[in-house]
Amino acid sequence: PDEQFEPDPKKKTLVVLGTGWGSVALLKKLDTSNYNVIVISPRNYFLFTPLLPSCTTGNIEHRSIMEPVRQILRHKKASVKFYEAEATKIDAENKVITITDNSEVQGATATTQVPYDMLVIGVGAENATFGIPGVREHSCFLKEIPDAQAIRTKIMDCVESAAFKDQPEDEVSRLLHMVVVGGGPTGVEFAGELRDFFDEDISKLIPEIAPKFKVTLIEALPNVLPMFSKQLIDYTEKTFKEEQIEIKTKAMVKKVTDKTVEAEVTGPDGKKEIITIPYGLLVWATGNAVRPVIKDLLSQIPAQKDSRRGLAVNEYLVVQGTRDIWAVGDCAVAGYAPTAQVASQEGGFLARLFNNMAKTEELETQIRELSTGLNLKPGNAAEVATQIESAERQLRRIKDVKPFHYSHQGSLAYIGSERAVADVSWFNGNVASGGKLTYLFWRSAYLSMCFSTRNRVLVALDWVKGKVYGRDVSRL
Ligand code: FAD
Ligand code: NAD
Repeated sequence: PDEQFEPDPKKKTLVVLGTGWGSVALLKKLDTSNYNVIVISPRNYFLFTPLLPSCTTGNIEHRSIMEPVRQILRHKKASVKFYEAEATKIDAENKVITITDNSEVQGATATTQVPYDMLVIGVGAENATFGIPGVREHSCFLKEIPDAQAIRTKIMDCVESAAFKDQPEDEVSRLLHMVVVGGGPTGVEFAGELRDFFDEDISKLIPEIAPKFKVTLIEALPNVLPMFSKQLIDYTEKTFKEEQIEIKTKAMVKKVTDKTVEAEVTGPDGKKEIITIPYGLLVWATGNAVRPVIKDLLSQIPAQKDSRRGLAVNEYLVVQGTRDIWAVGDCAVAGYAPTAQVASQEGGFLARLFNNMAKTEELETQIRELSTGLNLKPGNAAEVATQIESAERQLRRIKDVKPFHYSHQGSLAYIGSERAVADVSWFNGNVASGGKLTYLFWRSAYLSMCFSTRNRVLVALDWVKGKVYGRDVSRL
């Protein structure tokens, strides 16, 4: 029995899955006194993903962009329960979730069930590998903090092994060849950060290996950053050329081994050939795939039989074909790109919706009670009638909830050597810019978007520390 958390039997139980952009935006704005709120996530912190690529080189220390969820929940009006666990099964029919503690330390109970009245799913997505052989075994991903830590360690491991006594030249070249697959913003930002790390720190500390260091970005489409305007794509490609980051477009990786990548390249004449690229570090950034718990839920709902990319939701973010289940962020298909911007606006929308729903119920009860009072005490009928009218007016106003509408603020990406690209909406128009000024804009925008003042201070200090002392090249 859970003594710290006695659910109020008069309130509905609202279960929120995940502590990412969507769920945390919901929790931030939700009036938790209206529901028994339970949050379930294998990660007991919120992660500010836009600065994750900077953690791979130590330009930002990872704890600077993490905010403990317990710290977030501590400030809520009514207490919220948090369980560090993965939802392994959602039983939509019986309104029960099975949760499992998959962490290293487990108590006597590692799997249990949590019933819900209302459920918000914000579990995000996993890394897409398209079943390409060798990817899972040999690549690093870039989605979570442990991924960034693994990359940081591996970069230095490759560098130190390349600098090892009597290392043959071709092996030095292989170890210092850093290959990134996927020319979306994740791959581009990582390639830029990596080049900075090498140019600003590693090459100064170990100059003898400098000429062999190489970064290659492989992309299946004809260009990188497809979501940016043509002008910024060209600018990025030009900058990468200057930074000596090789971009291989129209190159589809088909196989990965422990030391090589095989890609099918389409030449200008349309001819295809297979090339083999030796690598020291391989970072796989080819976008999102659906998590197993979501695949399982999809299979339970006939209305979702054609959903391949996630849970299809309606304009109020209700999972189609279900009752009392909503979905936000990368696991939901609402017709928008899987970005933090979309996820956080969706979370904010649901908070307003749920606050409204609770207020509606409260007003309806009030009207019912006042109407009964009207019958009982005809003496103050005029006063009660005014109160009813005012409650009805409020009710009409809040009942009229507009569907979710996404407002795109723009796209921003760091591309290395203190340059960034930005497609920003500005007074109903679009402004595309790239360069050093955009980089300052990128820095101030992301600094202001950090979750808390504590995060902002830590990130700013990391930037100053990096400028003054350089990045820390210790291999952990
Ligand atoms: P997430 O933020 O991924 O959160 C999912 C949560 O669910 C996590 O807490 C996870 O632990 C939890 N979870 C996972 N499985 C389960 C389970 N079975 N049960 C319960 N909980 C579970 N977008 C932008 O708009 N701008 C950017 O600059 C930007 N930069 C990015 C940089 C990188 C390196 C990456 C990887 C992504 C970036 N994105 C950016 C995309 C953005 O991070 C995602 O779109 C966003 O995180 C989606 O939010 P979400 O809440 O759906 O999922
Ligand atoms: P993405 O889906 O945007 O890009 C993946 C790229 O990999 C695609 O261009 C695809 O053509 C390519 N690809 C797929 N399979 C391949 C193969 N076998 N060989 C070679 N190339 C292959 O993925 P992402 O960059 O991880 O981004 C995911 C989401 O997060 C997107 O919505 C993105 O907008 C968002 N995001 C935004 C930012 C930002 O705004 N700065 C940063 C990171 C991520």
